[in-house]
Amino acid sequence: MPPLFLRKQMGTDMIHLYKEKGNCCGCTACMNICPRHSISMERDARGFLYPVIDQKTCIECGACVNVCAFHKTEYEEIIPKDQLVYGLKHKQQEVREKSSSGGAFTAISDYILKQGGTVYGAAFNEYFEVIHSQAVDTKQRDKMRGSKYVQSDLGNIFTEIKSVLEAGKLVLFTGTPCQNGGLKSYLGKEYPGLILCDIACHGVPSPKVWEDYKVYLEDRYKETIQSVNFRNKDSGWRESALKVEFDKKVYKKNMQEDPFYILFFSHYILRPSCYQCVYTSFHRVSDITLADFWGIENSHKNFSDNTGVTLVLSNTGKGEKIVKAIWKDTDIMETSHTAFYQPIFETPSKASPRLQEFWQVYETQGSTTAIKKYGRLSPMQWGIKKIAVPLLKKTGLYNLIAKAYFRFR
Ligand SMILES: Cc1cc2nc3c(=O)[nH]c(=O)nc-3n(C[C@H](O)[C@H](O)[C@H](O)COP(=O)(O)OP(=O)(O)OC[C@H]3O[C@@H](n4cnc5c(N)ncnc54)[C@H](O)[C@@H]3O)c2cc1C
Repeated sequence: MPPLFLRKQMGTDMIHLYKEKGNCCGCTACMNICPRHSISMERDARGFLYPVIDQKTCIECGACVNVCAFHKTEYEEIIPKDQLVYGLKHKQQEVREKSSSGGAFTAISDYILKQGGTVYGAAFNEYFEVIHSQAVDTKQRDKMRGSKYVQSDLGNIFTEIKSVLEAGKLVLFTGTPCQNGGLKSYLGKEYPGLILCDIACHGVPSPKVWEDYKVYLEDRYKETIQSVNFRNKDSGWRESALKVEFDKKVYKKNMQEDPFYILFFSHYILRPSCYQCVYTSFHRVSDITLADFWGIENSHKNFSDNTGVTLVLSNTGKGEKIVKAIWKDTDIMETSHTAFYQPIFETPSKASPRLQEFWQVYETQGSTTAIKKYGRLSPMQWGIKKIAVPLLKKTGLYNLIAKAYFRFR
């Protein structure tokens, strides 16, 4: 039985959309489907958007409850029979440098735009907030390139996508698995013109912590932020860094040094639903899945490249058609499920054991104190990330050990 259902409370019939915050991924399907526009997305104290029902205008039709897709599906086989696996590098070095992995998103979206289609994806607005937006040309699309490690605000984009599809147009939707799942459920039927593309996602950080972090950096540098790149590749794909350009100064720190990255990877600031994500499976919700091809240096040394390689899972016939269509713009090779290391296809991210402590400090002592206190590695974590992991990667043992750790932890 789904965890969300109509409940009687306080003697009146009222719809409750989720039991606890971990049951809501914030996909907006319920808000978009409401026939009375009675649902709005409102921020909680930690900065995540949750649906709130206006009980005065709600007609209790239950559409919002039924559309919720955040339920775990169990599958008999671990790997779907028809899923194909590829390693992909965009032929243009410049595209790879501006993308998080190998630039598959650019190749796919180029193909859609050339067909007169519309692309939806996550981009920064002028305040460096992450929002889902629409692109009908490459200039608009370029803003969607690269990972932004913050939960994106979808606004009313599902309703907009539906009307574009109803007009018979081709649409590429890109986003997290839960955003893809929400859109699919909201649409409620197959559209031949819709291509769903999800990214491997180990969790989305709080937009509020990101806002506070921007203020923290601006205070430190006494200048205004002009650009942000979460996956700067000056030191290579494997050593990606957060690069923030101010009016004159530049901040650049890698994943082991930047406090926001440390809070992200230590799993302090993810949305509560990420710790119980229902999409951590090889059975994908979309036509095509993109991820970093971690482990390629061991499985395909000659194809490996430190400007980035995208792991592409082709999940459906539509996905396979896209892969064939982008063949000429990319270097692509077919491979197998044993060639990469990707724990998020097997199990959700585990919350930091100090999660509650972090948020308590954040809420009572302020963001700067919390960022300074928790946004740094302990000597033990530093040793593991800076010394042990690179050593294990060189010897080729890393994939094996990491896989075993994630399976049995
Ligand atoms: C929050 C987050 C967590 C991730 N976790 C993993 C992981 O655990 N393992 C892994 O291999 N890869 C992860 N990735 C995905 C990976 O970094 C690349 O996005 C992916 O490999 C595609 O790279 P590309 O070079 O083909 O294209 P790119 O140009 O890098 O792709 C950009 C695409 O990502 C989408 N996107 C960017 N930011 C967001 C966002 N905040 N919300 C929704 N969509 C977004 C854009 O819409 C666009 O479609 C994560 C990305 C994000 C945003």
